Amino acid sequence: MNTLERLESGVRTYSRSFPVIFSRAQGSRLYTEDGREYIDFLAGAGTLNYGHNNPKLKKALIDYIQHDGITHGLDMWTQAKKEFLDNLENLIFKPRGLDYKVQFTGPTGTNAVEAALRIARNTTGRTNIISFTNAFHGVTLGSLATTGNSKFREAAGLPTQGVSFMPYDGYLGEQVDTLDFLEKALQDKSSGIDFPAAVLVETVQGEGGINAARIEWLQRLANICQQNDILLIVDDIQAGCGRTGKFFSFEHAHIKPDIVTSSKSLSAFGLPFAMVLMRPELDQWKPGQYNGTFRGNNLAFITAAAALREYWSNDLFERDILRKSRIVEHRFNQMIELLQAEGVQASQRGRGLMRGIHMHSGELADRITSQAFKRGLIIETSGPEGEVVKCLCPLVIKDQELTKGLDILEASIKAVLADEDAEPVIEDARERASA
Ligand SMILES: *Cc1c(COP(=O)(O)O)cnc(C)c1O
Repeated sequence: MNTLERLESGVRTYSRSFPVIFSRAQGSRLYTEDGREYIDFLAGAGTLNYGHNNPKLKKALIDYIQHDGITHGLDMWTQAKKEFLDNLENLIFKPRGLDYKVQFTGPTGTNAVEAALRIARNTTGRTNIISFTNAFHGVTLGSLATTGNSKFREAAGLPTQGVSFMPYDGYLGEQVDTLDFLEKALQDKSSGIDFPAAVLVETVQGEGGINAARIEWLQRLANICQQNDILLIVDDIQAGCGRTGKFFSFEHAHIKPDIVTSSKSLSAFGLPFAMVLMRPELDQWKPGQYNGTFRGNNLAFITAAAALREYWSNDLFERDILRKSRIVEHRFNQMIELLQAEGVQASQRGRGLMRGIHMHSGELADRITSQAFKRGLIIETSGPEGEVVKCLCPLVIKDQELTKGLDILEASIKAVLADEDAEPVIEDARERASA
């Protein structure tokens, strides 16, 4: 056994699905230390929207380091931070008519969610937060309280509190508008739901199974919040940065949340980086009241700013995401037909390049992704039972790589349906690792 197996905590997850040692990555491809090549449809669970080692962003980063740019400066002003904020204002906020204050939190997504919850509670003086079934917002205690999945909740170590869960769009079937319940519960003094500070929502639930809320549902939710003076927090950590086809996932619904959390692909380079956007009136922090050693990663400011310049100065990138999402949608529909022909209930989910095939069986989804791995494709599942095979390929993926990845997925589905556990096209590294 090597040190990876002996020393690393049992809490590890992805290395169980993909038990090889990766050494290099470029664009949409990952390479193992012995040179085997995989197409990456996982992309850091939506962290690598711009691909691995994107050459344009890499150059900006190397130049910055080469010139001894600031790597760490607590939250002091740096040129890198100014460059990021300049680009954020000019290329993202202004064209969208947005007027947000920006708080740089600790570097991971859950840090941004924690800060957002704190802002909502402190500014409203209320405690309760409305979250939704199947929500995933991170695993630190405050965020965990808003996360649905019992796998994470069971490991909290303390009772989680201050959150009421409501049914997400579609939770009770297509015929039911679940917001009827939320609206009633808010009006009814006997609903047992404490009047909330905020509603926290993902427009497309990533970990929860690529559940895309309908546009009308999101608009009605925004209205309910506004009418009841409840803050709307959109957690755009996974669905943001172009994943659904727009920079912010809520743009599709033409709504303006009071608070937005962003991380994952925000740095554009896989560097840890998170921020909270809030309406200016909500920025009631006293200096230093909320801190952290790694607030705003200067290296990430550089790559994030470069990505905004490179991809978000016009609408070409958005159009390309939409075009690719149609390719995936079309191919997924064909795969769904294959599944249905064999009596497997399956359906498509998602928005933009955040897409999944729901198949009512975590075991089946797992067999398909394992087959795909043997054939050279990294792809994962999500959802309460892991029953959704999800495509989170880099948004910059080349057409030919996208097609190859989709071909592999289709071949894997066929193999599983035919109950052929094909010889791995790519040698199985587990044998090598234990040899
Ligand atoms: C990944 C994710 C988080 C948590 O981010 P971490 O960086 O893992 O802490 C929160 N919300 C959503 C929607 C996510 O996808």
